[in-house]
Amino acid sequence: MKVPLLDLKAQFATIKDEIMPALEAVMAGQYFINGPECEELEKAIAAYSDCAVAVGVSSGSDALLTTLMTLGIARGDEVITTPYTFFATVGSIWRTGAKPVFVDIEPETCNIVPAGIEAAVTEKTKAIIPVHLYGQMAEMDPIMDVARKHNLYVIEDAAQSIGSIYKGRKAGSIGTVGCFSFFPSKNLGGLGDGGMVVTTDVELGEKLAIFRNHGSEPKYYHKWVGGNFRLDTIQAAGLLVKLRHLDDWSARRRANAARYNELFADCQAVTAPTVRDYNVTIFNQYVIRVPRRDRCREFLKEKGIGCEVYYPRSLHEQECFRELGYKRGDFPASEKAADETLALPIYPELTGEQIEYVAAKVKEFLAE
Ligand SMILES: *Cc1c(COP(=O)(O)O)cnc(C)c1O
Repeated sequence: MKVPLLDLKAQFATIKDEIMPALEAVMAGQYFINGPECEELEKAIAAYSDCAVAVGVSSGSDALLTTLMTLGIARGDEVITTPYTFFATVGSIWRTGAKPVFVDIEPETCNIVPAGIEAAVTEKTKAIIPVHLYGQMAEMDPIMDVARKHNLYVIEDAAQSIGSIYKGRKAGSIGTVGCFSFFPSKNLGGLGDGGMVVTTDVELGEKLAIFRNHGSEPKYYHKWVGGNFRLDTIQAAGLLVKLRHLDDWSARRRANAARYNELFADCQAVTAPTVRDYNVTIFNQYVIRVPRRDRCREFLKEKGIGCEVYYPRSLHEQECFRELGYKRGDFPASEKAADETLALPIYPELTGEQIEYVAAKVKEFLAE
C-alpha cells in the first residue's frame, strides 16, 4: 500500500468541477492583480476568522514581513518567538533588522511557554509572535496578559492553523493580527504561494493594505516604503472555492486523528499529540513522538508511507542565526522535539485502511 504524506490530486478530484469554472472566470476577465476575487476572498476570510479586515498577500512569509514592516518594527527592536517553528517566523523578524529572542516550547503542544515570555521582555521588545504549531493554537490568554502589561504587539503566526479555535475564539482574532499561509500543503492551500493578514483593527488593516502595495496611497505617492506583497487574483479564485470546503476537511482531519489515537492507545512507545480541552485543532499535521525517530522514518518510507519531520533542527541552532549567541542546551524542549517528532499522513481524503496500515507499520517498527 502507498500512503503519501499529502495527496493533493485526491483533493483536486473532489473539487475540480468547482475550481475549473472559477479559473476560467479569471481568464475571461484578465484581471490578474487585485481582481474582484481578491476582495471577495478578503471579506470571506475576515468573516471566517471573526476579524474586521483581511489583507491578501503573496505568502505566509510575506504576511509576517508585511505585518512587521507596517508595525514599524526595525533595527534595534526585539521580537519574542519560539525556536521551534518554520524558518519564516524568525526569518521575517531578521529581515526587518530586529532581533529574534527565543522562548522554549511546551513539550505537549510544541507551542511557546507563556510563562517564559515575561523574563525575555526588555526595553527593546516590541512584539511577540506565538506560533500555532501543527494546527493547535498557543496559550493566548497568558500571552495577551504579558502583551498588555508591557504594551507589545501580538502577531499570531497562524500559517498552520486557519480555522483553529482557542476557548471559543478563532485563530487570528485574538492578537494584534493573525497571519495565514496558503502554501499548497497547508490545510487551506492555494494553487501556488499566497497568504493573508487578518485583524480586528480597521485602521491597521488599511495601513497593511498600503504596505502590501509599495506603501503607495494614493497611487504613486508614498508615505512609507512597503513592497510588492500582493495576492494574485487566480489564487483568490481558487481559494474561494476551497474555503467552502475547509470546515469539512478540518472535521475529516480530526476524525483521522481520533482514529490514529485509538490505534496508538495500546502502544506505550508512541506519544500521540496532546490537544487541550478548550482547543479545537485543525490538525494541519498529526505529529507523534517515537524513539529512534530517524530510523522509524526510514522504515515507514520503505513501506510506502510518506512522513516528515517538522522540524529537524531548532532555529536557535541554525548557522544563519549564530550571531544571536545561542547554543545547544539553551532550549531543551525544542531540541528534544527536533529529535523525536514525526508527522504522519492526516489529509482529509485518507481512507480508514490507509490509517490502519500506517499505525500498523509504526507498531511493527517499534516491536523490532
Ligand atoms: C508555512 C509557514 C509559514 C510561511 O508560509 P509560506 O506561505 O510558505 O511563506 C510561516 N510560519 C509557519 C509556522 C508556517 O508553517
